[in-house]
Amino acid sequence: MLHFQNYINGHLVPPHSGKYLPDIEPATGQVFAQIPASDAADVALAVQAAEAALPAWRMLPTEERGRLLVRISELIERDLERLAEAESQDNGKPVGLARTVDIPRAASNFAFFGTAAQHFASETHFQQGVALNYTVRHPVGIVGCISPWNLPLYLFTWKIAPALAAGCCVVAKPSEITPYTAFLLSELCIEAGLPPGVLNIVHGTGLAAGQAIVEHPGIKAISFTGGTKTGQHIAGTAAPMFKKLSLELGGKNPNLVFADCDLTEAVATSLRSSFSNQGQICLCGSRIFIERSIYEPFKQAFLAGVTTLTVGDPQEAATKQGALVSEAHLEKVLSYIELAHQEGGKLLAGGQRIYLSGRCAGGYFLQPTVFEGLAPDCRVNQEEIFGPVVTLTAFDTEEQVLSWANSTEYGLAATIWTRDLNRAHRVAHALHSGIVWVNTWLHRDLRTPFGGVKNSGVGREGGLEALRFFTEPQNVCIKL
Ligand code: NAD
Repeated sequence: MLHFQNYINGHLVPPHSGKYLPDIEPATGQVFAQIPASDAADVALAVQAAEAALPAWRMLPTEERGRLLVRISELIERDLERLAEAESQDNGKPVGLARTVDIPRAASNFAFFGTAAQHFASETHFQQGVALNYTVRHPVGIVGCISPWNLPLYLFTWKIAPALAAGCCVVAKPSEITPYTAFLLSELCIEAGLPPGVLNIVHGTGLAAGQAIVEHPGIKAISFTGGTKTGQHIAGTAAPMFKKLSLELGGKNPNLVFADCDLTEAVATSLRSSFSNQGQICLCGSRIFIERSIYEPFKQAFLAGVTTLTVGDPQEAATKQGALVSEAHLEKVLSYIELAHQEGGKLLAGGQRIYLSGRCAGGYFLQPTVFEGLAPDCRVNQEEIFGPVVTLTAFDTEEQVLSWANSTEYGLAATIWTRDLNRAHRVAHALHSGIVWVNTWLHRDLRTPFGGVKNSGVGREGGLEALRFFTEPQNVCIKL
């Protein structure tokens, strides 16, 4: 049995309470590790360590901070295989996905922000003969980073790296459901020589450790990725304390397939955008709207593709679909499949839990599931399911599909499939969505603003947006 520890003031330490929580492997249903059940006392120690580290860290030249972050990136690359296996064991995702997406991206996050901060410049405003205004960007101070279970190391480092690059010290909490790679990261930070207290990783539940981070008066900004309800609760606590907030929340993303698209490409990518990571990516397109004239050919090709998505042991190379992250989450997704039947949907594929044999007999596996015939305003088409369940709906006009696409409370990401350049721009601009992909999906450039509108969140991550979030602008005005 593995025993993870908190990373506080440069050391791996047990929780103050001495209590631990079980960490379950989703593919087997078995406990494989114990994680610290941290609380406010551990967070207080972490903040104390961060306070002690902050004066030196913020004064360190940006190049030197960058060098340390690049070193961490190199160590992640060196340990790619070990980290990918850990991520797969902890989350249930196919190890191939962790090896090609999650872990390389975590390495890129450190390399990108370690170097991006060196190109971060502030503004001057010159009024001839009157005044010169210039802006200084100071690190916010100590910041809290709280991340979810679906892309554990990838999203954890997406917050930590820009915060550190900007000169902040960090108290971070990974999801208690997938803490393994965050623990391995703490070992790599020690090896890289990150000064004690600059990054502190506190494990534990949202209600105990997470809430303590949000409430601590010494923490000046919260960067959170997770569910919309949790985001609302965090905002309720942090806003009256005037903390800076970045909230990356849920989604119910539309995928618009126009008749003039490259059908082969649209089908292949829509299979990925529907079922990658068992549909547990906030950017997955779960509502697929298809122009009526190509509805049948799209549907037939899509369903043929679904049959090739082998569900199996995440450790095996042939596996395309691993386990859902937990039994509770599997039950939630199954309840939406039941609801889809009740709401009059026609099941085209999947719909059942899968019981594998051998090592994975107790795992949380589900068939990739496709429905049609559901109204765009029904609950299944409005609420975030966050699993391998998609709906197909035919549309007749651009106006109609836009109104359906924009009809949910969310606005994170959308995809458009068309060869008509004018339409691509027109539809993209009319979508209520923080991110729009045209003829692609999950194509990421780390310089671009990342985040959603409506209940998908507040603020943007990525590139300069993240560096701005973790700094406070100060204007200095000099009379000329
Ligand atoms: P969650 O909201 O349950 O938990 C996220 C994190 O918040 C965890 O670390 C949890 O321990 C912590 N937390 C819970 N309650 C807290 C509290 N009161 N105070 C402080 N921290 C608290 O979300 P989840 O189930 O882990 O992740 C799935 C959700 O995340 C989905 O809704 C998905 O859409 C969303 N998500 C969004 C993005 C994005 O970029 N917009 C990316 C990935 C996932």
